[in-house]
Amino acid sequence: MINKPSPHALQELLPPLTVNEAITESARCIMCFDAPCTHACPTHIDIPKFIKKISTGNLLGSARTILESNLLGATCARVCPVQELCEGACVLGSEHKPIAIGRLQRHAMDNLKGNKIDIFHPANSTGKKVAVVGAGPAGLSCAGELAKLGHSVTLYEKRELGGGLSTYGIIVLREPIEVALTEVAMIQRLGVRIEIGKEIGIDPTVADLQENFHAVFIAIGLGHTRALEIPGEEYVLDGLEYIERSKLEPSQLRVGRNVIVIGAGNTAIDCATLARRLGAERVTMIYRRTEKEMTAYPHEYDFVKREGVTFRFLVQPTKVHHENGGVKALECVRMTLGDPDCSGRPFPKPVPGATMLLRADQIVKAIGQNKTSLISTLNLKTEGGFIHINSDFETSSPGIFAGGDCIRARGSASTVMAVQDGKLAARSIHQRLVNHG
Ligand SMILES: Cc1cc2nc3c(=O)[nH]c(=O)nc-3n(C[C@H](O)[C@H](O)[C@H](O)COP(=O)(O)OP(=O)(O)OC[C@H]3O[C@@H](n4cnc5c(N)ncnc54)[C@H](O)[C@@H]3O)c2cc1C
Ligand code: SF4
Repeated sequence: MINKPSPHALQELLPPLTVNEAITESARCIMCFDAPCTHACPTHIDIPKFIKKISTGNLLGSARTILESNLLGATCARVCPVQELCEGACVLGSEHKPIAIGRLQRHAMDNLKGNKIDIFHPANSTGKKVAVVGAGPAGLSCAGELAKLGHSVTLYEKRELGGGLSTYGIIVLREPIEVALTEVAMIQRLGVRIEIGKEIGIDPTVADLQENFHAVFIAIGLGHTRALEIPGEEYVLDGLEYIERSKLEPSQLRVGRNVIVIGAGNTAIDCATLARRLGAERVTMIYRRTEKEMTAYPHEYDFVKREGVTFRFLVQPTKVHHENGGVKALECVRMTLGDPDCSGRPFPKPVPGATMLLRADQIVKAIGQNKTSLISTLNLKTEGGFIHINSDFETSSPGIFAGGDCIRARGSASTVMAVQDGKLAARSIHQRLVNHG
């Protein structure tokens, strides 16, 4: 095991733009009318407008334009899959390089942080009280937007730190923890009261919140990593905990020399990247389907291959071999693809007798998260285990709204989508409180 990683191993992947680089890059933008990048951004930031302001040196105005549409602009600038969203829609991308929208957004937001400036201030009170459950991107966005409108917001968070997966789950290479915590502090300065270490469910329950608040917004994300249900699973590390430790206690993270990561989604890619960056000599990702069915973004797949991670497709783990408390190998079976299942992807089936033993001294699983158990206790209409909402983000129980990963029954979950849910839900809640008292 390697337990003294280099302090430089987990630095942010992309360095910040210098002032000159930002001005040069912003000058490339052709300021499209009805810009496709703005349509492609889930929060519809007026991208040409914020870029124009960078080109004229108005960084404060640029940050204001970003924050008007997206209160978590600093996080999104770092974690958005821009190739699939704003930059993927840039008209310059067809013949030249697309504008580096994410890095320009980060430039404007970092300037704000460096100068400790608040763009928005608490509004006059409307006398209405809203409870928000979960201080991840969806909850923070909803709470901040409601506070901007003068509502009194209490945000309940079960962990010790706010920020949700931006704080605990997104690797430092993409987003240092301080960026998420700075956003939490900004939401607090808007007047939102955050009750940390308060898990909603038993005391108080959501019903208690309903009695004491005019509206409730639920943004509890997803639950723990799914179980593999194979012998020896107790020797397999949980990918989310692996990442969390790398963020909160990097000196305590022990990385194997020969690591297997089970799964082929974005979380699995992050775990494999961490292992490589922290010194693992060999990192192999194994997946029971093929390259074509992987859920990771294509640019992430290319990235992790460049990091030196190798892949084994059509392989399913069946047993962990261990000795003296340590992992020795992962027994697997070869798979073949059958007819499509309910996800629309071909269903993998084991090839009888085609077993293999893959040597490893550390195994990490990243095979997706379960829904949180709170959902099943709420008596709300659900869809595939996710909370069902209408077009106003209201659940089957009037006055209870929901957003973020806990409602995302279809499509891939992302921070920027959660931020947009929070913003739209806040607008619906505001309308309800203003029109119906
Ligand atoms: C490893 C990993 C990497 C990712 N990387 C990216 C990326 O690079 N780019 C990207 O766009 N997206 C990424 N995502 C997805 C993104 O992080 C999520 O879509 C986003 O965080 C969802 O926001 P949320 O507010 O719905 O949920 P979360 O961020 O999960 O926040 C939910 C919050 O609710 C709290 N909570 C839960 N239950 C209760 C309760 N009963 N009482 C009180 N509080 C409660 C939780 O502690 C948590 O703070 C990644 C996800 C993972 C797992
Ligand atoms: S929020 Fe994300 S998708 Fe929208 S402009 Fe910024 S980086 Fe692009």
